[in-house]
Amino acid sequence: MAEKLTALADELIGGRAGDWDGAGAIPLELIRSAGAAGLLCAQVPAEYGGPGLSSADNGELTAHVGGLCSSFRSLMTSQGMAAWAIQRLGGLRQRQEYLPRLTGGELAAVAFSEPQAGSDLSAITTSIETDGDSIVLTGQKVWTTGATYADLIVVFGRLGDGAAAVVVPTSAPGVTIERIAAPLGCRAAGHANVTFDSVRLPATCLLGGAGQSVALVVTAALTYGRLSVAWGCAGILRSCLREVTRFARTREQFGERIGGHQLVARHIAGLLVDERTATRAAEHASHCWDERSPDMIIAAVQAKYVASTQASRGAATAVQVLASAGAHDGSAVARAYRDAKLMEIIEGSTEICQLILADHALSTTA
Ligand code: FAD
Repeated sequence: MAEKLTALADELIGGRAGDWDGAGAIPLELIRSAGAAGLLCAQVPAEYGGPGLSSADNGELTAHVGGLCSSFRSLMTSQGMAAWAIQRLGGLRQRQEYLPRLTGGELAAVAFSEPQAGSDLSAITTSIETDGDSIVLTGQKVWTTGATYADLIVVFGRLGDGAAAVVVPTSAPGVTIERIAAPLGCRAAGHANVTFDSVRLPATCLLGGAGQSVALVVTAALTYGRLSVAWGCAGILRSCLREVTRFARTREQFGERIGGHQLVARHIAGLLVDERTATRAAEHASHCWDERSPDMIIAAVQAKYVASTQASRGAATAVQVLASAGAHDGSAVARAYRDAKLMEIIEGSTEICQLILADHALSTTA
């Protein structure tokens, strides 16, 4: 199944990433056809209509897509996070209702961040109120990846003394989606700010129990997201390594191929090591996920931290080696450079990952 999905990704994405980046959009029907084949949330089990891949196999698929197009990979991350939040937080009926829709061509996004709640998600103010058989959702979310394409958004908010998640159809009255114009990178990933103005929904849209802690509710989705981003970053590094080695084998300066100049060779060695290290960190986290190890949460933070910082550095190196050949928007390394920088911001910034890792070391190291 993983091979089939990889071949489908090649067929659907091919060499179109640059065009989509320039246009700021991916054709909606193409994304839907990927979703209907299970490509966007490939870990959803077969009983809910999904491909049921392991985290390790889905990771390699994500890296492959990340090497082709980070915007498309961002949509995989969002859809996978939405599906995982429904799997973890939802009851059986909700899993049976929503998961087959997400593996059948409907598209989903995940909304945590608010204007005043970025790194500090304990500050979210979006409110979920119960009213008989209904709930009413009010608030504003920012930078929701995939929202311009989405049929459903998993929205995190406050309910009573705690937090909860709600599955919101984007067609519901009171939902307004405003596309973010000209983001730095992942320009075709459909980022948007989303407003919920007293959106009334059946109470069955509320996932699981009410009033849980914010950390508990968001960690499930974020762990999936961090691991997915880590694999995506391994893909960015693979594509940069390909571009750099191809160029360094043919471009000549001072009478020899630039790969023969030792300072350029050092850049190539660094990129190779960054790619291998990012892949190993992601493999370790996926292994923890597949083994249901309690280390899964911290391994995902570690993988995201390692892979995103190295992708950011590796993509900058790739632009340096290609120099003027990589210094225009249409070049794959320039796109990688812009996309990789954003990976240091999302799903817990580099600094937030460092704080989590330091806390972990302080509390576990003898
Ligand atoms: P802030 O929290 O304001 O942080 C600003 C700076 O201060 C950062 O460098 C940060 O690391 C640092 N900082 C903050 N607190 C600390 C601290 N305690 N110690 C040290 N440093 C600190 N959100 C969603 O809900 N869904 C999405 O799908 C989504 N997709 C996104 C896609 C992109 C491309 C981007 C750019 C953002 C996306 N986001 C999404 C939002 C993203 O999660 C936030 O941008 C991120 O959490 C950081 O929040 P912030 O931008 O408000 O920065």
